[in-house]
Amino acid sequence: PHSKLPDVGTSIFTIMSGLANEHKAINLSQGFPDFNCPEPLINLVTQYMHEGFNQYAPMPGVLKLREKISVKTEKMYGYLPDPETEITVTAGATEALNAAITAVVKPGDEVIVLEPCYDSYAPVIRLCGGLPVYVPLMLPDFSVDWDRVKRSITSRTRLIIINTPHNPTGAVMTQQDMNTLAKLIKDTDILIISDEVYEHMVFDENVHYSALQNAQLRERSFVISSFGKTYHTTGWKTGYAVAPARLTAELRKMHQFITFCAVTPLQLAIADFMDEESHYLELPYFYQAKRDFFIEQLKQTRFEVIPSSGTYFQLAKYSSISDEHDQDFAKRLTKETGVAAIPVSAFYHDKTDNKFLRFCFAKSEETLRKAGEKLAKL
Ligand code: PMP
Ligand code: GLN
Repeated sequence: PHSKLPDVGTSIFTIMSGLANEHKAINLSQGFPDFNCPEPLINLVTQYMHEGFNQYAPMPGVLKLREKISVKTEKMYGYLPDPETEITVTAGATEALNAAITAVVKPGDEVIVLEPCYDSYAPVIRLCGGLPVYVPLMLPDFSVDWDRVKRSITSRTRLIIINTPHNPTGAVMTQQDMNTLAKLIKDTDILIISDEVYEHMVFDENVHYSALQNAQLRERSFVISSFGKTYHTTGWKTGYAVAPARLTAELRKMHQFITFCAVTPLQLAIADFMDEESHYLELPYFYQAKRDFFIEQLKQTRFEVIPSSGTYFQLAKYSSISDEHDQDFAKRLTKETGVAAIPVSAFYHDKTDNKFLRFCFAKSEETLRKAGEKLAKL
């Protein structure tokens, strides 16, 4: 009777990683690399720890890191956010999302989310008394149905959450998408959260277009990123939000009571390592090679794929292998075939099953090859 989220269980990432461990399966489910982060980054962390940087960081984040984020943001997206008033370092993108949503959503507010979507958005909206309004992305390429978004806007719409490159589908929004969104909200008070944690993982002819590159969107957006994705350090839980001063002020009111501040030596180390620009400039090629290698392995299987445009995830359709619900199929695949993946229905509020599994290819070639061999037996 006291549960605030009675219908919410354990996250699919915990469930599938747990099942993978239990059955000693190759874990391509939860998104994280199976290779280590850059050695110099580790050395910097231990160096700062030894030097005594082990106490609270400033609430908005270590200034040096905010300054580096600012300069990088201008280099990538042509906008120089003010480190003092427009950038906040958080405990991962998860905290930034939580702080942004709780900062602006009031009881009765509607929030438009595009499904399938990352699993943390809707529960936080609901905890604020808000109402998630779900708009499905369109098959086969999971593009945005902007007419449907437009029809979903009401006088109660407070916020629209977008995610590009998109988890779990790998879809990437175009400049045209961003322009359309800007036009839709022009004469409204609607705010935007743009979840861009996979900003450096875009493939082929695709480019990442940030909400920060559109002046109209920028003035009403929380743009969120994560060092966990960019530096192969998902366990460091360090991310940030860029937002106009008036929105940042509200976000920080939440941040100061969720965690108060992010981890000091990690922020200092990342700030220094951000000078290695080649790391993130080469990341698209690094992950594109992994995507291509994984797709090559899948060619010996009966899974069907459309190459992912971004993120470190590849969707694969299994309808020629089985007609089971994707949750059942994913569990059986883990137990019997020895490969764990995420059933995409977990990203839909009503568990819509389009017979897709999501595989994470942020893995060594050896891991991906072994997974391919197992999947070929199906
Ligand atoms: N948003 C999306 C779309 C993600 O995929 C993730 C990571 N799974 C997050 C946010 C959370 O990032 P972090 O690990 O930095 O909290
Ligand atoms: N973001 C990761 C994914 O989509 C997992 C994050 C988590 O475990 N909460 O797989």
